[in-house]
Amino acid sequence: MRAVIYPGSFDPLTNGHLDVIHRAARLFDRVIVAVAMNDSKKPLFTLDERTAMVREVVAGEGLKNVVADQFDGLLVDYVVQQGASAVVRGLRAVSDFEFEFQLALMNRKLNESVETLFLMPKDTYSFLSSRMVKEIARLGGDVTPFVPDSVRLALKERLHGKRAAILPGLPVDGDPGV
Ligand code: ADP
Repeated sequence: MRAVIYPGSFDPLTNGHLDVIHRAARLFDRVIVAVAMNDSKKPLFTLDERTAMVREVVAGEGLKNVVADQFDGLLVDYVVQQGASAVVRGLRAVSDFEFEFQLALMNRKLNESVETLFLMPKDTYSFLSSRMVKEIARLGGDVTPFVPDSVRLALKERLHGKRAAILPGLPVDGDPGV
């Protein structure tokens, strides 16, 4: 049984992430989408919300060998704890390369037995990032082509719903924001 970990912030899950999940699910018996706490990135969605979004989308896609989990701490320790032998990351463009290369080699230094694999998404997703999707949604743009529908609705609710006004860092009524 070959298991792989796909770690990330998934704030929120995009069609680019989903593309990588589909590819990994064809290569491995089990894919664990590991949602990172990552409080330093000040996520728009809580850890539980991000995890629930991944779960809902994965179930909707009928991806039976994919599960969502949460992790904090060292990735290589989590990989071992889950009985996996590899980590999968998405590579969009050369701009991702340097950071991902550094991360992969650092993880190898920490644990030689954990391999990192890179998967390239469909070219139409190579420009897509969670950060950009959040920015477009915040400015009232249509994110339908970029995220699963449940994520689109969650973005709408978070950024333009009633509760949006009390979220830190978001423009409140009368505040023009950017
Ligand atoms: P992190 O905070 O760890 O970078 P992200 O959720 O932003 O978490 O990304 C998780 C992984 O998915 C990273 O390897 C990232 O390069 C990859 N990724 C993000 N967006 C895309 C995309 N559009 N296509 C393919 N891979 C992607």
